[in-house]
Amino acid sequence: MDKMPFAEPYKIKVVEQIKQLSREERIAKIKEAKLNLFNLKAEDVYIDLLTDSGTGAMSDNQWSALMKGDESYAGSRSFFQMKDMLVKLLGMPYIIPTHQGRAAENVLFSAMVKKGDIIPGNTHFDTTKGHIEFRNAIAYDCTIEDSFDNESNHQFKGNIDLVKLEEVIKKEGRARIPFVVHTITCNSGGGQPVSMDNIRKVSRLCKKYNIKLIFDVARFAENAYFIKTREEGYEKLTIKEIVSEIFSYADGCTMSAKKDGIVNIGGFIALKDEELYKKCSVYTIMFEGYLTYGGMSGRDMAALAKGIDEATEFDYLHNRIQQVQRLGKRLEEEGIPILKPIGGHAVYVDAMKFFPHIPQDHCPAQTLGVELYIEAGVRGVEIGIVLADRDPVTRENRYPKFDLLRLAIPRRVYTENHMEVVVWGLKQVYKRRESCSGLKITYEAPIMRHFTAEFAPIDNS
Ligand SMILES: *Cc1c(COP(=O)(O)O)cnc(C)c1O
Repeated sequence: MDKMPFAEPYKIKVVEQIKQLSREERIAKIKEAKLNLFNLKAEDVYIDLLTDSGTGAMSDNQWSALMKGDESYAGSRSFFQMKDMLVKLLGMPYIIPTHQGRAAENVLFSAMVKKGDIIPGNTHFDTTKGHIEFRNAIAYDCTIEDSFDNESNHQFKGNIDLVKLEEVIKKEGRARIPFVVHTITCNSGGGQPVSMDNIRKVSRLCKKYNIKLIFDVARFAENAYFIKTREEGYEKLTIKEIVSEIFSYADGCTMSAKKDGIVNIGGFIALKDEELYKKCSVYTIMFEGYLTYGGMSGRDMAALAKGIDEATEFDYLHNRIQQVQRLGKRLEEEGIPILKPIGGHAVYVDAMKFFPHIPQDHCPAQTLGVELYIEAGVRGVEIGIVLADRDPVTRENRYPKFDLLRLAIPRRVYTENHMEVVVWGLKQVYKRRESCSGLKITYEAPIMRHFTAEFAPIDNS
């Protein structure tokens, strides 16, 4: 018998108009933006795949929770709603709200990281790395080698290499390593999940050396979906049961709720240890706000409580992740080189394969981002040499193994028809790829340059 097709587990109550500029208008807009997609006005973008962060569509339940938000400075009911939800789901008793994920990093790292420290992890996210390097510490990458091999079909490319991790611990000594950070899923590594087996073994290794294990969990629900659908022994567990096992292995976590919290702003720190919580409390009050709001409004905490609950349901995750997988498969059908396996929140186009004639110094992924905007009004983001930035010590450019254009899919926002426009746009650029030349950076900030860099076309004459 034919299987019933799976459709969105929701229907649409409110819509938002978007409009398309002409190709000529787009050329003018991107020039004005100094060829940096961050500088575009959102209203000049037709389909915005810059990020899945804070761009999701809230449910009717979340919107009604907003109305009931309690804006009390201290002891807000909405804080306790959020806290109760998180304590139950994550099994960590101490919850600190922050205005977003990097604020959680700022607070936690203020309490834990000092000059000269080494923080091993799996391809640290850019703000994580920024907060580590800002404190003159080192973000040490221990991701498995399979992660850098596009031919490898490893199902958990976000995994930490246990040999690399143990080597760095032995070499540098535990005194220099305040904690290991495990990013779940691994964003910069292609939205790649981490297996429960890897989480368990990393946790065991950390315990052996008495080093704390901190998770960076922006997309933990998506990671749990991959564990359920790919890892033996987890098929029958619910997403919430898997999530609860994941967190049982950590000492604490930082969360950007703008991802799997399905809210537009917000984040939190969750901790098991009271002493560390007390240390963090001081920095929270200094940087974010009092402990029962920490940079969030009451209504946002109320919406976050609902959002996390919805995001840890299988039907929601299945629909979300299958939309991303489908876009990847469609691009493959059209011969567009993408990173594989396809991750949870985004499809990554391999720009060095797309433009084999453009050297990495000439920013192939940034070039592709600009061309795709001109072609179809679609905005992606560069994850390549621009994002990789300079080495903080030598100030030389860092050359990541891939130069990628990330197409991140906002949660519950776009339809399959929108995804077909994305496929069409990339197909058009692919047809004329040989006529595209690269870009050079004409301005860059001293740290996290990709947000504000300016570019000019390479003059081939
Ligand atoms: C988004 C993200 C962050 C930072 O969170 P913000 O809310 O953007 O400040 C940190 N780590 C990972 C893995 C992320 O995806």
